[in-house]
Amino acid sequence: MNAIVELTASAHVADVRGALAALGVWTRTLRDSSARTLILCGPGSVPLDLDAIAGLTGVAAVAQEPSPHPLLDAQAGRAIPITERLAIGPGAPQVLIAGPCGAESEALVHRAAAMAAAAGATLLRGGAFKPRTSPYAFAGEGVEALSWLRSAADAHGLALVTEALSERDVDAIAKVADIIQIGSRTMQAFGLLRAVGAAGKPVLLKRGRAATLAEWRLAAEHLLAAGAAGVIFCERGVMGADPEFRNTLDLAGAAALALVDKQPVIVDPSHATGRRDLVVPLSRAALACGVHGVMVETHPEPALAKSDAAQALDSDGLAPLAELFACTPGVTA
Ligand code: PEP
Ligand code: MN
Repeated sequence: MNAIVELTASAHVADVRGALAALGVWTRTLRDSSARTLILCGPGSVPLDLDAIAGLTGVAAVAQEPSPHPLLDAQAGRAIPITERLAIGPGAPQVLIAGPCGAESEALVHRAAAMAAAAGATLLRGGAFKPRTSPYAFAGEGVEALSWLRSAADAHGLALVTEALSERDVDAIAKVADIIQIGSRTMQAFGLLRAVGAAGKPVLLKRGRAATLAEWRLAAEHLLAAGAAGVIFCERGVMGADPEFRNTLDLAGAAALALVDKQPVIVDPSHATGRRDLVVPLSRAALACGVHGVMVETHPEPALAKSDAAQALDSDGLAPLAELFACTPGVTA
């Protein structure tokens, strides 16, 4: 966010710019039509502290651009309540979300929920409707799978997050889910965002593969403007240069949203890498840099998974995650 600083008549531009630099603020000198000297405070490495800037010697007034996402700004700094016992975001304990890529069968979903609870997860994940690149790939079991997910979550004391892929299914999903997920591929499907927002639930908003942080924040604003109870950002990797990885995990982006914007942020190392051997180390890195939880894909028998088999953790693979949650107190900037 930029701000414009107006100087007092007796001020020296270099002195004020020096004082701003000492606050970590990047500046440029401007002149307006009446030849007043103004200083543009650009988006620097720190968020602007307008009160501190206004208090500097030589500063007459400070004006800030209006934010393009006022509703998102208003949710900053606090956790989003999910159930009576669970909240996600600043000030709340870091959470583990675990479960299969797709809710393949009732039995699979129950086994996966048992695995998740044993590993210390508080939320079950799993898709009844799967976005797939190929129209011939497994696309989920649809509406029937929603009741499997809800009953498995209840049986193990877990909250439930599941994806809405189409406006058509939002009502059915809102009846069972504690959090509605928006997938990476539909981050900017604005009709879907409106329909999901209107359900009035918390939303887990995955980042588009090629989305900037600014676009991601505005997608969250769409959800909030439509009535979402809160938005939790989920970093799941962005387009990278190296085909050895499915995507590239942008920990800087996740940390910027969590620590600088103070928004609720979850990291999904499973889709970020596409490789189970990297899921635990990247979970550790994400939790260490202060995000509010991780979401991982699991399967009791990964080789049999109908989607994303290479990134699924089995029970043994999931176990080290429990230890991470035992020793990671909240980190602040
Ligand atoms: C998922 O979490 O089930 C999923 C499809 O992930 P993404 O939208 O990040 O690809
Ligand atoms: Mn998946």
